[in-house]
Amino acid sequence: EFAQISLKDIEDVAKSSFPLCMRHLFEKLREDHHLKHGGRMQLGLFLKGVGLKLDDALAFWKAEFSRKVGAERFDKEYSYGIRHNYGREGKRTDYTPYSCQKIISSTPGVGDHHGCPYRNFSEENLRAALNKMGVTGRAVGDVMDKVRNRHYQLACTLTFEAVHGSSCDAGINHPNQYFSDSQKIMQ
Ligand code: SF4
Repeated sequence: EFAQISLKDIEDVAKSSFPLCMRHLFEKLREDHHLKHGGRMQLGLFLKGVGLKLDDALAFWKAEFSRKVGAERFDKEYSYGIRHNYGREGKRTDYTPYSCQKIISSTPGVGDHHGCPYRNFSEENLRAALNKMGVTGRAVGDVMDKVRNRHYQLACTLTFEAVHGSSCDAGINHPNQYFSDSQKIMQ
């Protein structure tokens, strides 16, 4: 079971406990005030999984999107998708957050920011992203070795261990697991 997080905590927990795939989407959303569909789904369902309530989710996305497309267009075109993710529209399915396997096998196109950075980033961008997370020195080389062998989840696990200074024996298989394991260490 995941704890609830509130809107005002997102910024902090994004820095401390989001895996790289979600940090990247979060940063791009803050930068561009927009994400394409795949990114909205991947980040939106993750945030739902970490315990962001629907009202807070709507406020979160609206604060960003309205700076790009205006509040009215957000309400018309984008709020439906968010309510849909929470099972309040359409078939009223309660959608679950994506696993690593699903994210790694997605195929982001031009302008998309979803997917797994360990798989999709250039080596240079990945090194920079790791440094930004506080991963330096030998740990970066160890992560890169896993990436070269296409062991993306192991690369993510090594990143988790470097960032938290703590082992993650189960390995990372879900972004929401990364989050909850991180929160356990942080608390
Ligand atoms: Fe996200 Fe999973 Fe890739 Fe880590 S391995 S960045 S949690 S998709």
